[in-house]
Amino acid sequence: QSQELSQVRIDYHAALLALQEQGTRMVCTGKMHTDRICRFDYLCYCTEAEEFIFFHSNASVMLPNLGPRRFQPALLDLSSVEDHNTQYFNFLELPAAALKYMPKPVFVPDVTLILNRFNPDNLMHIFHDDLLPIFYTMRQYSDLDDEARLVFMEGWGEGAHFDLYRLLSSKQPLLKDHLRNFGKLMCFTKSYVGLSKMTTWYQYGFVQPQGPKANILVSGNEIRQFASFMMDRLNITKEQTSEDDDYIVVFSRASNRLILNEAELILALAQEFKMRTVTVSLDEQPFDSIVRVISGASMLVSMHGAQLITSMFLPRGAAVIELFPYAVNPEQYTPYKTLASLPGMDLQYISWRNNIEENSVTYPDRPWDQGGITHLEKEEQERILTSKEVQRHLCCRNPEWLFRIYQDTIVDVPSFLEVLKEGLKVKPNLKKSKPASTVHPGRVREPKCQTSVQATNEAKLAVSWQIPWNLKYLKVREVKYEVWIQEQGENTYMPYILPHQNYTFSENIKPFTTYLVWVRCIFNKNLLGPFADVLICRW
Ligand code: UDP
Repeated sequence: QSQELSQVRIDYHAALLALQEQGTRMVCTGKMHTDRICRFDYLCYCTEAEEFIFFHSNASVMLPNLGPRRFQPALLDLSSVEDHNTQYFNFLELPAAALKYMPKPVFVPDVTLILNRFNPDNLMHIFHDDLLPIFYTMRQYSDLDDEARLVFMEGWGEGAHFDLYRLLSSKQPLLKDHLRNFGKLMCFTKSYVGLSKMTTWYQYGFVQPQGPKANILVSGNEIRQFASFMMDRLNITKEQTSEDDDYIVVFSRASNRLILNEAELILALAQEFKMRTVTVSLDEQPFDSIVRVISGASMLVSMHGAQLITSMFLPRGAAVIELFPYAVNPEQYTPYKTLASLPGMDLQYISWRNNIEENSVTYPDRPWDQGGITHLEKEEQERILTSKEVQRHLCCRNPEWLFRIYQDTIVDVPSFLEVLKEGLKVKPNLKKSKPASTVHPGRVREPKCQTSVQATNEAKLAVSWQIPWNLKYLKVREVKYEVWIQEQGENTYMPYILPHQNYTFSENIKPFTTYLVWVRCIFNKNLLGPFADVLICRW
């Protein structure tokens, strides 16, 4: 990996001429600033002004051309966090003629992806907000390939895990601070600005208390594909563990939010499950060795915290056990529960919380960002100290939340094992966990209905259909059909689940009444197909 830009030789004179004559060209996707990604030819950046620059010429293009709405509030989100007012992107405009009076531009020949990292010191944020969105934005635009250049504009230093960002392309990522090394005016020959939010599953509570995103668009399949890409780049090959080599991993934190009786917990786990139990810690091990261990584990036990993002590397069928300190309600902090529960992740998730106040160690004297509360009014301190549960709150400086989440905990082993035994529906089992099929049925074909009158008050409605076209190529464990029958003009319907391709309804069927009938196919109980065109059944 090299820091220099000129891997690809470019004709400087030709590039300058193109910029002067054609100016900047921008074409974006997305209706709103929150779902927009823009592609630019000749987007420039002035390192002195710390502003991106759009050069207008007769040939420049700006789509969408929003006029002043470009500032309401911005052209687009530069990070994957939705509508965060510190993460907006915009550019200044200049006529291309102004180039005559400006410093000579330095051209970046690589196809570049320009974005903000959100919090590159926190492993959860690194994966959820940056790595996954970058990875899938690169898959959305085929010229963002392994040779693409990443440029991080949030202004932070490398952060705690810069090596992970390096895995995404063969070129060294650039930080905002690096840009001034290249000169006063940089022009990106081809660039994309912004990140796909398609893979994010959690909102951190800036406008409403934190929780899963309202409309999750990612499944375990995409998370696992990304995870295996990362393992590949880290040179980790999944070890084929044998049945008798199952093991449990306890992820420990060394500086805060500690499990105070870790040894006791490990012993209890090993005895209860008859499995080897090992610990890993970000404070003591390189990231790749942790992933190697987790990728073969049957169970991952950890305090709530960013390190739990590594559960995406667990094999299918494994269990995630998340521990919460006293007065913290697990239902309100669910980034890892949501991840484990994505369809196709195939992980079991269980939370345990400390309900015994004496088993908790608090740190009122620490700085506020590590949960200290001594800077608060006496009354407020008293309220926090006697409160039994942190109420729902917004991000990010709620002192009661910080106070409680940074407690250390003695895990009460009997209650912990009780929760585990109750929660584990099946013994964590890696061997039986093949990915479940996600192939949905097509429409049922040739739906038909036939009505007949038996007696004055007795009528029959015979409905039949053919199997969906794709079924003949599939091995499906269970094929069922759902039929909805609605009397025309009514707003309720009767649903039926049927095992065959025809059925004659006679209950609740009135003669000389028009019925509307919808039919769809269902594979394996939960893979729903589309309804066929509605049948209008007349006499
Ligand atoms: N961290 C760690 N060991 C510790 C405490 C924190 O490795 O004892 C890491 C943690 O995984 C995260 C970063 O330091 O990547 C910031 O931790 P913080 O407590 O601020 O965030 P949280 O874990 O609550 O998301």
